[in-house]
Amino acid sequence: MAEKTIDRSQEYVRIESVTKRFGDFVAVDNVSLNIYKGEIFCLLGGSGCGKTTLLRMLAGFEAPTSGRILIDGQDMASTPPYERPVNMMFQSYALFPHMSVERNVAFGLEQEGLTKAEVSNRVADMLDIVKLGEFARRKPHQLSGGQRQRVALARALVKRPKILLLDEPLGALDKKLREHTQFELINLQERLGVTFVVVTHDQEEAMTLATRIGVMNKGQIVQVGTPTDIYEFPNSRFVADFIGSVNIFEGQLIEDEPGHVRIRCPELDTTVFVSHGISSAPDAKVSVAIRPEKIEMTRGAPEGAENLTRGIVKEIAYMGDMSVYLVKLDSGRMVRVTIPNVERHADERIVWDEAVHLSWHASSPVVLSQ
Ligand code: ATP
Repeated sequence: MAEKTIDRSQEYVRIESVTKRFGDFVAVDNVSLNIYKGEIFCLLGGSGCGKTTLLRMLAGFEAPTSGRILIDGQDMASTPPYERPVNMMFQSYALFPHMSVERNVAFGLEQEGLTKAEVSNRVADMLDIVKLGEFARRKPHQLSGGQRQRVALARALVKRPKILLLDEPLGALDKKLREHTQFELINLQERLGVTFVVVTHDQEEAMTLATRIGVMNKGQIVQVGTPTDIYEFPNSRFVADFIGSVNIFEGQLIEDEPGHVRIRCPELDTTVFVSHGISSAPDAKVSVAIRPEKIEMTRGAPEGAENLTRGIVKEIAYMGDMSVYLVKLDSGRMVRVTIPNVERHADERIVWDEAVHLSWHASSPVVLSQ
């Protein structure tokens, strides 16, 4: 993930209480958000949560029903799309099929009335940056999916926008190429210093690309943070569940001290001791989220009475780099545990129907009150 330091003194995009209605339907619901210069900011959410609508309002293709959008301190309300310092790369890439790569990239610049020499220099530079120089004369149908994606990127970047909006930029690529292209995008962004706002429904993509992620649900931004913040400290069940896989247990808060909390979790047959506090009413019903990779699985019983439970291995899925175990507790509850496959020797591995102990560190659970 691109966890570089963001200069928070340079707020670049400011979205102030923006709502967008289509008739009675609220597609974007009172969103406020700042995006800083040089960020790769990912809007992440499921289908229909409003992320494309928000992107289209930044581009100027839709107007907010209420609220304001400022770019570099300027209210965009009366600025049409073509006058905004913004360019958009569409999911479909929208390349002109009958034009060569070179002409596709040059098209936008020609509309700006630059001289022929300027256009051809800038196109050549840009094709060089996206490593497409040797394909300049090909037509889009003579390119691979990844190469077409780079043409679309070149076409959007050649106009030197200050902000590039990308709608599912890697959606059309297969998994392997997507991974490779993610790193290329990060490199390119760092070299050019353009601010990227990326819409994606793919959490892995957001985790890899983003300096910060805004998680959206039903038109609202429900959490904003770095990939690490969002993964390690989700602020709600929705976010915990949406990003990565997680075990969520119902419980009751029985102790709430500044440095720790205790939760009674009948499903887990133990009390959960958490070394970071939350603020909630005593006896409140809460959820406890524990990531599968943070649970230790052993044959012998670890010491202690808390953060410890027992079960029987019911399923094992070998995934290559790791194995996923489903362990059935006495309460009947299934718990997901992942173990990295660092050992080549399989004889020590825990197998089906073995009785195991599950334990976790006090810093691992996250207590969620909503
Ligand atoms: P996806 O990942 O599926 O593209 P999204 O999060 O980008 O989803 P949006 O395209 O922003 O979602 O749409 C949000 C909601 O607003 C959807 O329920 C959609 O049907 C609705 N919507 C979008 N554009 C319009 C429109 N022009 N008129 C009416 N409803 C619209």
